[in-house]
Amino acid sequence: MTGAGTGAGAGTPDFDVIVVGAGPAGSCAALELARAGRSVLLVERGPFPGSKNMYGGVVYPRILDELIPNWWEQAPIQRWVTRRATMLMTPTQALTIDFRSQHWGAPPYNGATAYRPDFDHWLAGVAESAGAQVLCSTVVTGLLRDASGHVVGVRTDRPDGDITARVVIACDGVNSFLAKEAGLYGKVDAANYTVGVKETLALPKHVIDERFGVRGNEGVDYEIVGCTQGVNGGGFVYTNLDTVALGVVLKLPKLAAQKQRPEDIIAAFKTHPAIAPLIEGAEVKEYSAHVIPEAGYSMLPQLVGNGMLVAGDAAALCLAAGIWLEGVNFAMASGMYAGRAAVRALQAPDRATMQKSLGSYTTMLRESFVLQDHRKLAQIPHLVLSDRVQHQYPGFVANVVERMFRVDNPAPKPGLRRIVREERKRAGIRWRDLVRDARTGLKGFG
Ligand SMILES: Cc1cc2nc3c(=O)[nH]c(=O)nc-3n(C[C@H](O)[C@H](O)[C@H](O)COP(=O)(O)OP(=O)(O)OC[C@H]3O[C@@H](n4cnc5c(N)ncnc54)[C@H](O)[C@@H]3O)c2cc1C
Repeated sequence: MTGAGTGAGAGTPDFDVIVVGAGPAGSCAALELARAGRSVLLVERGPFPGSKNMYGGVVYPRILDELIPNWWEQAPIQRWVTRRATMLMTPTQALTIDFRSQHWGAPPYNGATAYRPDFDHWLAGVAESAGAQVLCSTVVTGLLRDASGHVVGVRTDRPDGDITARVVIACDGVNSFLAKEAGLYGKVDAANYTVGVKETLALPKHVIDERFGVRGNEGVDYEIVGCTQGVNGGGFVYTNLDTVALGVVLKLPKLAAQKQRPEDIIAAFKTHPAIAPLIEGAEVKEYSAHVIPEAGYSMLPQLVGNGMLVAGDAAALCLAAGIWLEGVNFAMASGMYAGRAAVRALQAPDRATMQKSLGSYTTMLRESFVLQDHRKLAQIPHLVLSDRVQHQYPGFVANVVERMFRVDNPAPKPGLRRIVREERKRAGIRWRDLVRDARTGLKGFG
């Protein structure tokens, strides 16, 4: 690149800003900068944006209203989610809260299923049309700093590949080595991460419509607890037009301790009586896996470095709160705010003022849903992945419901209070734990 030979920090930088990673965070950061007339390079290691990226499958795109008005007219969407279900599962039971809203099947929509190669490619294309330069098949291998330690660009795997910039925004996803190299993370704890594995299962569209009770481009999103074979985690089933995305997320240390393989856990999940009929006869089209930063607020790194910002999964901003797994929207929003903060910083007359302006990124995140939701729901990821929620509550609740629904004549009906008392004892749940967990849940969701 042209930056080679300029010397870190010397001369005119190649770009105002380098954004590393063309996922949702990176593309939104680049879009903001390009629209503000700044020269911005979006570097992506894959052959095209989205080529390396996987997730469960649902985007909550409300933040796009601010960035791309009427985005739904151009975004590559599979289905609009009109049915949201949360399922508690035991090996022989399933309790589902199933909600449907036709409001969600019309603009401005609530959530959509989309393939990441399509969605990320589209979003990066919007940034490119606005003036961002997109450089694919290029791995950023490290940070360039000047003598004072200020970040002044990146190293890439291209021959002669150092590129300089006044600001670097790291959007390189979970395990961001750029954020780590900049010293923005403290000690990294494996307990803060889950691994997500997913199968994409092909079925004809009319079969999906029939089995999931939807029509046209309406779609379904199931979030499931109790389907992970004793390994703490959760599961999901989402509908695309002619595929179903089915997967599990598994807490890393628990997975390692129990020595079970994710593919065996998925295989067992697929045979559950509540799931098997939905996917019967489907052909596995794709198998993919990726790590998720799942511990929420407690694992966030410093968001601002010396000449550098970090956004999206690179900043652990994914929110996994049980009834939602939201990462793409948090990535898009944090990328957008990082872009805005960089635009502001670039107007500064000197480096000290510029560094101070970069700090406005944290303020913007604090004033938006990004940090407000993370703060409010700070305890929820821990609660959802706790042993009680994972291994005791699904059976307890399912047994209570089973006994309430059961007609035991000639025995008289036992009544809810007696059933709860007996089932709580049977599940070995202490009242004080139940009350404490209920309080934590209310504090987060309430
Ligand atoms: C199994 C699973 C299910 C999920 N389900 C959902 C869901 O349904 N809904 C939802 O909203 N979120 C979901 N998420 C979370 C979501 O995928 C992430 O939060 C989101 O992708 C974060 O976006 P990002 O732009 O920060 O990072 P990423 O999407 O990871 O993008 C990072 C980009 O940086 C590039 N890159 C990395 N390193 C370098 C480098 N050194 N040089 C150049 N480029 C680099 C990558 O190739 C990639 O394009 C799920 C995640 C998983 C794993």
